[in-house]
Amino acid sequence: MAVKMPQRNGKNRISQILRFGLFWAIIIFVALIFYATLFPASNLKDVALSDVVRRANDGKIAQLEIQGNDIKITPKDQSKPTEHSVKESSSIYEQGLNKDAKVEVKVIPPSTTGETMWNLAVMVVPVLIIVVFFMFMMRQAQGQNNQAMGFGKSKARLYGQDKEKVLFTDIAGNDNAKQDLQEVVDFLKHPKKYKDLGAKIPKGVLLVGNPGTGKTMLARAVAGEAGVPFFSISGSEFVEMFVGVGASRVRDLFSKAKKNAPCIIFIDEIDAVGRKRGSGMGGGHDEREQTLNQILVEMDGFDGETNVIVLAATNRADVLDPALLRPGRFDRRVTITLPERKDREAILKVHFKKKPTDETVDLDKLAAKTAGSSGADLANMANEAAIIAARRNKKKISNDELTEAFERVAIGPERKTKIMNDHEKELTAYHEAGHAIVGHVLPDSDPVHKVTIIPRGGTGGVTWFLPPEDKSYTNVYEFKDILARAMGGRIAEQLIYGDDGITTGAGSDLRKATEIARDMVIEQGMGKGLRDQVFHEDNGGLMFDKMTRERPYSDETAKMIDEEVAQLITEAKHRAMLVLKENRSFLDKLAEALLKEETLEESEVDEILKGTKLPKEAKLHS
Ligand code: ADP
Repeated sequence: MAVKMPQRNGKNRISQILRFGLFWAIIIFVALIFYATLFPASNLKDVALSDVVRRANDGKIAQLEIQGNDIKITPKDQSKPTEHSVKESSSIYEQGLNKDAKVEVKVIPPSTTGETMWNLAVMVVPVLIIVVFFMFMMRQAQGQNNQAMGFGKSKARLYGQDKEKVLFTDIAGNDNAKQDLQEVVDFLKHPKKYKDLGAKIPKGVLLVGNPGTGKTMLARAVAGEAGVPFFSISGSEFVEMFVGVGASRVRDLFSKAKKNAPCIIFIDEIDAVGRKRGSGMGGGHDEREQTLNQILVEMDGFDGETNVIVLAATNRADVLDPALLRPGRFDRRVTITLPERKDREAILKVHFKKKPTDETVDLDKLAAKTAGSSGADLANMANEAAIIAARRNKKKISNDELTEAFERVAIGPERKTKIMNDHEKELTAYHEAGHAIVGHVLPDSDPVHKVTIIPRGGTGGVTWFLPPEDKSYTNVYEFKDILARAMGGRIAEQLIYGDDGITTGAGSDLRKATEIARDMVIEQGMGKGLRDQVFHEDNGGLMFDKMTRERPYSDETAKMIDEEVAQLITEAKHRAMLVLKENRSFLDKLAEALLKEETLEESEVDEILKGTKLPKEAKLHS
């Protein structure tokens, strides 16, 4: 069923081409007939009239066929005319032909076909031009009409079942999600089994997970496994400038789907239309609400016989309107988490399946380094590695390309062309050394993985910490060490160049540190005075919502939050200062090594920093 539509489209195109061809063939044919009639081809030899008259008087010509002023001449030894001449006056005898010459003179009344054709042409051609012009205009107008009519049509893409079929086996990891969705496959395949027992088949399943975790792939795999058509549309595609368009698109999509049942409708980014309905100010808002209402109406309208299941994806389930999540709508939820180490390895294997690699490539090691990466990130890394290898004219991908691809995806490409003067280079070296030493010395920080003063992405240099294993939770000590090491760069600059020697190089560190500190206080209940309290603010709403909604805490609490955040940052700065002062000589050593080598790996950093000490005052616990 699914491949029908494209076929129909194909047929339409062929018949269009045929009609177009036929139209021009007729035009050319008519033109040729006109031409042939008006300018008849003649292969007769032109001869002078005086010559004709002389030869006729001599008896050398059998017949003269006269039509108007044209004379066709048949010489004595010929059976049909071979020559042609033109007479000037009305009678051939006046031109000198003897009355008794032995020649047959045949006078044919002048033809009016040419003239008629001319007259006809003068009448028909303009009419023809006008008709063609109108046909052209009509078609144009019809096209526009179609466009206008199609405005309310959904732009859902229908995927065929054979060519682009995705199966669960194409998706690495995500075992829990696959298990949950297997049930949906069963509903689609054997609806009767459930109906016989009086069970209602669910109408909507919400796939919740970070971007790139494979939600779209999973939805397609459900369709692939069940062998049903798959309509895919993004939430944002419903909404246009005009109110009502979204709703009509929803109607269109559901009616298409019902015709193709059993089938899957996949709405990506449902939060684009399914956010909590709020103040109702602003046109876009109304449009969103109407679209959302229409989705609800359509889902409620499914009767027991309609075997259409709507899968919707979002990474912000918390901002969705509760009406969407009520029983009978999106009442099932499948959570898709970021892949764990073994899943990351499996995903990498899937994406390296068709890429030749040499023996230096260790996907398990890469999987270990890529905690927090989504499936899409890993797919991107695999692709980058192949691109880098191809650019280096290699036949196989090696570990070098893999490492570069990983770093590129994680922090952006190296910018070797960015020119830094010697002072900036030195400052960067001290800055990064500051981060590295604080991170290295503090007990609850992840180890340093790499330090570089080659600009990458938007930064001057990078100090990179990687957890030795996947972690699900972060404790207060770990957060505080992250804050301290983030401040390490600025503090190192301060130690070396004085209080006024600090630069903008630490801007992003400070921003990140403040974000983490706020998150600790507001979302994680990790403040000192505000311990175990959470002040969650939904920041997903539109501007009008934000303006009209009250903060869920008092002004005093807001002040306390600010104070808590400031305290955390001050403490982090203090600890970073203690660590760097205690290990001042190592700061010079590491900065020097960085200036020389530009990039230092984990083992090299460990070697240089052997002998660093954790000052007692910087300790948070025993
Ligand atoms: P989402 O819809 O969650 O944003 P997609 O389904 O579009 O993510 O995934 C993007 C790409 O990431 C896929 O095309 C695929 O190449 C890759 N990918 C994500 N997860 C997996 C997985 N578990 N196994 C294999 N590839 C994956």
